Amino acid sequence: MGTLKDVVDLMSQLANSVSDRKIAAELNKIQHLTLQLQSEQVALHESNIQLREKNLELREELTALKKQREIDDSLAFDGDVYWRGVNEGKRDGPFCPRCHDTKKLLVRMHSDGPGWWCKECSDHYGPRSRV
Ligand SMILES: [Zn+2]
Repeated sequence: MGTLKDVVDLMSQLANSVSDRKIAAELNKIQHLTLQLQSEQVALHESNIQLREKNLELREELTALKKQREIDDSLAFDGDVYWRGVNEGKRDGPFCPRCHDTKKLLVRMHSDGPGWWCKECSDHYGPRSRV
C-alpha cells in the first residue's frame, strides 16, 4: 500500500513540474490508474480476509463432522440402545438411541429394572443388552 501511495505522490510531483501539457496529462492518467490499482488491492485484501475466515469456519466444521463420524462409527446398536467399543472388546454404555439419533448427543443411560432409562429425554429402553 505504501509503495502505491509513493508512486501516486511521485506522479503528482512530476505532473506539477513538467511544462509539457501532454506529458502532464499522461502522468495524471498514470496516477489515476495507480489509484484504481490501490482500490483493487484493498478489495482483494478484504476478500482474502473473508476467504481466510470462511476457510477457518469450514475447517472447524470438518473437524466437528470427523469427530461425529468417529463417534458414530464407534457405536453398535443392539436393537434397544447404543454401545461403544464393542468391536474392541471393551463395551461402554449404554447410550440413548433417541438422544443420539435426533440430537447427536451421546447420553449415558441408567439401569432401570430390566432395561435402561435416559435422564435427558426420559425414555425407557430394555431389556438389557443383547450385544
Ligand atoms: Zn435420551
